[in-house]
Amino acid sequence: MMKTFVLGIDGGSWRILDELELPGFQRLTSGGTVGELTSSLPPITYPAWKCYSTGKNPGKLGVFGFVNFDRERQTNRQNDSTHFDSPELWDYLSDEGDRVGVVNMPTTYPPHEVNGVMIAGPNSGDSGLVYPEEREPELLESGYVPLSSGHRLAFKSGGEKTISTAKTILESRFGAARQLLTDEEFDFFNLTIYCTDPVQHHFWDQREVFETYRSIDRELQDLLTLLDEDDDEWNVVVVSDHGFQPIRGAVYLDTWLEQQGFLERRQTADTDPSLLQQIGVTKDNAAGLVRALGVERVVDLLPESLVQRVNRSLPSEGGISVVNSTDWDCSDAVFLMGGIYVLNESRRDEIMDEIERELLSFRDDGHQVIDEVHRTDDVYNGPYTDAAPDLIPISDDYKLLGLSVDGSLFDPENAWIAAHEMSGVFVGHGPAFQDRSEVTLDIQDVAPTLLHAMERPVPNDVDGSVRDDILSDRVEDVVQWRDPLSSGQTHSASSVSEEEVKETLKQLGYIE
Ligand SMILES: [Zn+2]
Repeated sequence: MMKTFVLGIDGGSWRILDELELPGFQRLTSGGTVGELTSSLPPITYPAWKCYSTGKNPGKLGVFGFVNFDRERQTNRQNDSTHFDSPELWDYLSDEGDRVGVVNMPTTYPPHEVNGVMIAGPNSGDSGLVYPEEREPELLESGYVPLSSGHRLAFKSGGEKTISTAKTILESRFGAARQLLTDEEFDFFNLTIYCTDPVQHHFWDQREVFETYRSIDRELQDLLTLLDEDDDEWNVVVVSDHGFQPIRGAVYLDTWLEQQGFLERRQTADTDPSLLQQIGVTKDNAAGLVRALGVERVVDLLPESLVQRVNRSLPSEGGISVVNSTDWDCSDAVFLMGGIYVLNESRRDEIMDEIERELLSFRDDGHQVIDEVHRTDDVYNGPYTDAAPDLIPISDDYKLLGLSVDGSLFDPENAWIAAHEMSGVFVGHGPAFQDRSEVTLDIQDVAPTLLHAMERPVPNDVDGSVRDDILSDRVEDVVQWRDPLSSGQTHSASSVSEEEVKETLKQLGYIE
C-alpha cells in the first residue's frame, strides 16, 4: 500500500514559497500536483483545519471560529476539539486498521483516540496533549516542546528572538515526527506547523518570515530523506488552512455597525464580570503587576494552564467586551469573529439586505473595504447552520477584527501587517499524483481525495470531491463509498477549574 505523509503549514503561502525557491519544496513541486487550496469561509484557522480533516463545511461541523456566539444566551463559547462533531480522515483510516500519527494540528486539543499517536496542537497547555496518555512523558522527555504563551510573545518580538524561537519549535515538531517514523510503522502521518501564522502576521515579507520558511525547508529535506529510506512508497502532500497576504490595516466592523445604526451599546459596559473580575483581578491591579514585572516575566511566573485560562477570558481573544457592551434589546446586528449575526428576527431578510448593501459601498479614502459579502445559507449546509453568522464579509486588503477597544473604525497602528486570505497551498507528490500545475482544490476535497488515493472507502457525508483529475493511474478509478462513522469518539478536556485558578493566584499573592 502507498503511504501518505501530510505536511500542514498554517497560513502557508505561495507568495513566500515562490520568492524563496526552497530546495525541499522544489523537490516536491517538480513532478507533482501543484496548485492553490481554497480555504473555508471565512479563512480562519478554526474551523479551516477541521474542514481539511473531515472534508466537510462548517455547517456540518458546528464551529465557525475560535469562538462560537450563542444567540439565545448572548454569550461566547471558546472552541476546542470537543466542539467538533465529525470524524476525521485519521478516524476513518484507524477504522480500516491503518496506523496513523497526527502531530500539532490546531483544533486537536484535547486529543482523541486513534489507531496510533496524536499530539495535540496549540492551546493545549503543557500536559494532557498526547494520546495515548501513557506516552506523554516519553514524548516530552525526548524534546517535544508544547507551545507556551512565552513562545507566542517571542513570535512577536522580532529579530533573532523570533527566528530562534520558531526554529526551536520547528525542530521539536519535525524531530518528534522523525522519531516516531523511525521507531514505528505508520500508514499515514500528519504534521502541522503552526508558528508560520503568528510570525507572518507580524513580520510579513521580512527576514523573520523568510528564516522561518528556510528552517521548515531544512527540516523537510531531512524528513524526505527518511521517507526515501523506507521500503514502502510515500506520497507527500503539503496543505495550508488558508493563505496569507499583506494588509492595509485593521477595520473594526463592530464600530461600523454602530455608526450605521445597526448596533447599540450599553451606557455602562462590562456589567457581566469576566473571569478575571470574578476572581478579584481588576484592570488596575493587573496593569500594575504587568508594569512592575513586564509581560514576559508575568507569563513566565504563571503556570501555562493559568495563562491560557486567563487569555481565554480577555476581550481580544473572545469578543467578550463586544458581547458585554451590546444593548441586546436595541441592536439589530452584532459582529464577532467569523461574521455578522442578525439579532432582529422579525426583520431578518431586510436587515441582511441593508447591511450587505452598505458594506459593499463602504470606502476608506475611496478604497473599497469589503470585497464580498457571503450569505450563510448560500455557503454553509448542515445541521448547525442556524448557529452560524448570517453574513460573512471578506476583505482583500483589511483584516476584520471587529473588536475595537476605543470605538475607532480603523486602526493604522495595528500590530499585524499581514492576514489570512482564501488562497493557500496544495502540493501532491508521489506515486498517487499526476505531474500537473495550476490546479485549484477546495480544502474540503483533501480528505476524500487522500482516502481514495490510499484505497480506502470515502464517507458519503463529505462535501468535498474525490479529485481524480489529479490522481495518477496507480490509483483505482472507482471510488468506494462507506457510511459515516458515528461521532462522539472524543475524550473530554481535563480543564483547569475556577478553584485551581483562584488558588494559584492566591499563592502568587495576586489576590487576597
Ligand atoms: Zn491558520
